[in-house]
Amino acid sequence: MLDLYAVIGNPVAHSKSPLIHTIFAQQTNQSIQYDARLAPLEGFISVVENFRQQGGKGLNVTVPFKLEAYQLSTHLTERARTAQAVNTLKFENDEILGDNTDGIGLVRDIESNLGIAIAAKRILLLGAGGASRGVILPLLQRQPALLTIANRTLHKAEALQQQFIPHGDIVAVDFMDFPDDKFDIIINATSASLHDALPQIPAEIFSHAILAYDMMYSQEPTRFLKFAQQNGVQQWADGTGMLVEQAAESFFFWRGINPQTKPVITMLKSQA
Ligand code: NDP
Repeated sequence: MLDLYAVIGNPVAHSKSPLIHTIFAQQTNQSIQYDARLAPLEGFISVVENFRQQGGKGLNVTVPFKLEAYQLSTHLTERARTAQAVNTLKFENDEILGDNTDGIGLVRDIESNLGIAIAAKRILLLGAGGASRGVILPLLQRQPALLTIANRTLHKAEALQQQFIPHGDIVAVDFMDFPDDKFDIIINATSASLHDALPQIPAEIFSHAILAYDMMYSQEPTRFLKFAQQNGVQQWADGTGMLVEQAAESFFFWRGINPQTKPVITMLKSQA
């Protein structure tokens, strides 16, 4: 009998999580089945309950249900409680355990795969939505020199600043009032790339940057990454590595075993 897992979202058909977790299970000899569940926008809880009744052991949660998953959890890891967002659920008896692995996925991709230490770096995080919320604590725990959050709608960046200020040095700005600071690592956590758009950021911010990182994963460089390349950034990456690393951390949360991520990242990046 295979243990049942799935990714739940809307939309979800494009998700690479079933492929990634199936490879992880083969690598580690785990007897699991992993599929995708589309939930209606108003129907997250009933799809989760249905899944549990089928004997489901755990779910990855994607857009737009991370807040509902947080509210549904009966126990939370510290990083999920601080983020107020859950991307991984584990069902044990009557308990629903909630975790957020997005941030550690990003940090591992930058540090282990791309070889860039976050400590003492000046970081610019673009966007103040669900993805930003999940990565702020793990970034601050690496002790950057400064974390600046820039968002088109300033009050959302300010709300995140207030929420996370006990955990480290964090500043909120909007796109109309960019600081002159030099940044080392610039992370695009807006959804602009999903719409082939570019956030209204000044070109100069890339002139001293070591890394431009777009959380969206795509075969072709996004407009953000092309803009960064044209304006002097040294290195760039899309979100494929983050996707695989957050999946590996979810796999560990469920199965207590670490899969190998590098061959999966290489395979996804080489897919046409
Ligand atoms: P949300 O919808 O929660 O937030 C969207 C954010 O993008 C907001 O801050 C919004 O600003 C901003 N935004 C949208 N369009 C523009 C634009 N044209 N110019 C400037 N800012 C814009 O999305 P998520 O946070 O959930 O996702 C963001 C991205 O991260 C997506 O591309 C997603 O695919 C990716 N992601 C990747 C993961 C991975 O593993 N690689 C994991 C999670 C997310 P405003 O507040 O002003 O509306």
